[in-house]
Amino acid sequence: KPVMAIVGRPNVGKSTIFNRIVGARISIVEDIPGVTRDRIYSSGEWLTHEFNIIDTGGIDIGDEPFLEQIRQQAEIAIDEADVIIFLTNGREGVTAADEEVAKILYKSKKPVVLAVNKIDNPEMRDQIYDFYSLGFGEPFPISGSHGLGLGDLLDEAAKHFPKHGQNDYEDDVIKFSLIGRPNVGKSSLVNAILGEERVIVSNIAGTTRDAIDSQLTYNGDKYVIIDTAGMRKKGKVYETTEKYSVLRALRAIERSDVVLVVIDGEEGIIEHDKKIAGYAHEAGRAVVIVVNKWDAVEKDEKTMKAFETNIREHFLFLDYAPIVFLSAKTKKRIHTLIPMINTASENHALRVDTSVLNDVVMDAVAMNPTPTDKGKRLRIYYTTQVAVKPPAFVVFVNNPELLHFSYERFLENRIRDAFGFEGTPIKIFARER
Ligand code: GDP
Repeated sequence: KPVMAIVGRPNVGKSTIFNRIVGARISIVEDIPGVTRDRIYSSGEWLTHEFNIIDTGGIDIGDEPFLEQIRQQAEIAIDEADVIIFLTNGREGVTAADEEVAKILYKSKKPVVLAVNKIDNPEMRDQIYDFYSLGFGEPFPISGSHGLGLGDLLDEAAKHFPKHGQNDYEDDVIKFSLIGRPNVGKSSLVNAILGEERVIVSNIAGTTRDAIDSQLTYNGDKYVIIDTAGMRKKGKVYETTEKYSVLRALRAIERSDVVLVVIDGEEGIIEHDKKIAGYAHEAGRAVVIVVNKWDAVEKDEKTMKAFETNIREHFLFLDYAPIVFLSAKTKKRIHTLIPMINTASENHALRVDTSVLNDVVMDAVAMNPTPTDKGKRLRIYYTTQVAVKPPAFVVFVNNPELLHFSYERFLENRIRDAFGFEGTPIKIFARER
């Protein structure tokens, strides 16, 4: 999906516009324990366009001086977005800080659409003319609080969406990414994978966006490591800020089939790991948990089991994800990663036989009778797989409200026992027949 970013100095109304554009979608997030959602990144829709949108104002740059913060937020927008919405405030006119933002955006080659916010009624339209001086052509008058002018603004932004998506890899290519907080060893792992004997590093695609991915072949199968550049290049100040690293991770997760959640074996699990793993799960991606730096851990025969138990307790929602303990440094067990990615990816795309599926569900019901609620019993008529990546099932029932979470979980476990699905989430929906 194309990416839009909103930049502008504080108090021009970035978050209001962000929420307006995102609309009701932000409230429909799945409620997963332990996952808190940052409201800086979401998806939006305008007419036939689907896109993602970033509120760079939500990325807290820390104690930097005011102008420095604005500058870094603008650079994040330049790094991440296909089109930038430069937001200003019509009630205050052009300020020095606006000019500073303009200067940075001007140097980038990204398309910029200039919006003047807080134009709450037609009489105020005259106030937009000053903003021509910023050098981005026609300013679009909008009102975040009244929801005015957004259609025209989005029309203009959509004109700059790339014609081809950035995910233009062939269907047989397995896309994976390595996600984790800074210093867990993501770059070292990428290098270890690329350095494996059987791995042939292919050409890096020519387009600007794709150039950040690494393509490789292993046993004749093709893979892409998503956003490799994001792991290799370091140095920009804002790259160490937590929200920015989460944003980066979200973007990589979205483009991946399989997400390797990398944990530092030496440091153990922290909140940030859970958050990121939660996003991967929520996005319906296949997940492999990688515990790196296992060489540096002092261990006896119980250490691995204890660490595994700890992971399972922290990542309850990821009970399907296999765990691999390895070392990017000594290369120990690096060779197990690609086969593991293959398994997760195959299961992620697995389509099961409908009659076998129904046998499994009927056996499950025979074993554990369906729940009743206020004297009404849940009846399951038929189950069918409706999607892959991740596998999704619709259970046709007498009344969807009777399919409680615990029974749904039971069905999921029976389906997993029958078909495996190691490494992938599966979804179950109830529909009334
Ligand atoms: P990234 O920020 O996640 O990409 O992490 P890096 O790959 O830059 O690694 C961070 C630090 O951890 C570096 O000093 C690496 O040398 C070190 N490191 C990476 N993998 C391992 C490992 O398997 N074992 C040990 N002992 N150190 C590692």
